[in-house]
Amino acid sequence: SHSFDFDNDHGRVRVAVRSRPRNAEELILDADFNDCVELFPELKRLKLKKNNWSSESFRFDEVFTETASQKRVYEVVAKPVVESVLSGYNGTVMAYGQTGTGKTYTVGKLGKDDASERGIMVRALEDILASTTRGSDIVEVSYLQLYMESIQDLLAPEKINIPINEDARTGEISLPGASVVKVQDLDHFSELLQIGEANRHAANTKQNTESSRSHAILMKDVKSNLSGGNGIPRVRKSKLLIVDLAGSERLDKSGSEGHLLEEAKFINLSLTSLGKCINALAENSPHIPTRDSKLTRLLRDSFGGSARTSLIITIGPSGQHHAETTSTIMFGQRAM
Ligand code: ADP
Ligand code: MG
Repeated sequence: SHSFDFDNDHGRVRVAVRSRPRNAEELILDADFNDCVELFPELKRLKLKKNNWSSESFRFDEVFTETASQKRVYEVVAKPVVESVLSGYNGTVMAYGQTGTGKTYTVGKLGKDDASERGIMVRALEDILASTTRGSDIVEVSYLQLYMESIQDLLAPEKINIPINEDARTGEISLPGASVVKVQDLDHFSELLQIGEANRHAANTKQNTESSRSHAILMKDVKSNLSGGNGIPRVRKSKLLIVDLAGSERLDKSGSEGHLLEEAKFINLSLTSLGKCINALAENSPHIPTRDSKLTRLLRDSFGGSARTSLIITIGPSGQHHAETTSTIMFGQRAM
């Protein structure tokens, strides 16, 4: 199948659905294979069961079944974004879905033992490094966590409450104070991802929460030296954001209190505000409401306009999660 086509209606977010394979527990519990979705990858459609009598059909830019490889997902969803970043534009790839449906597998998997399992972060870096072999080009990364509207540096976890700065003239978004590390090679990058993961885990244990309650954001800056027509060197900068979003499941608000309730409100705020922006882009609205949450403020210059944005929504096959799967699919439909 082909990569996402970004040539028409530029700003719209492209959306793929990916269903993960059944896990051992589901193989036993769902012996009757009472799934709530039926996938039609050739048609780029899926049917969502509404009740025992009816279902509704939805179209996406791509539908991946559980047999889709990591390589194929990368090539369809992320590669066109990476290519555009290499030509000087900003771009974003995001994974959205209920906890346990494969967001981290899709974007963050290191694949140390088995390179075929590598996720989007690693594959994107591989492609970027391969095309920036000219000695003067630089690839730098920052790795952050956004939790309860506060940004923490995952490469230097003592740095918390990092502000988001928007350049008044260029609109460029930056994070003053966040670590920016120049990447030497793929091994070095893997190491950075692992350090980030360990710091994320430690921070969440300290805050007594799950990493699924925060957004993880990897930012890659690509700086290419171009020789200007007049012989004066010019640096071209662009960036790629890869975002492993917080789990989209609705926490039971009636049962939550105190800290958990606050957490749920913040996750809800950022994902709702992301949905509104995605919707506004789909409607070609002149106003994209990025001011409502830190997540969307951070994405502001890598979202819509000349930036390419891909969203992967991940679902599990089990009928047990009908309500969550429905809400995930409806979220993805806001872009279409
Ligand atoms: P999330 O980040 O959405 O909470 P994970 O990426 O951690 O979910 O995935 C949950 C489990 O399912 C993990 O054990 C992961 O390895 C497995 N998994 C997810 N997607 C796939 C896939 N496409 N193929 C094989 N295993 C997968
Ligand atoms: Mg995860």
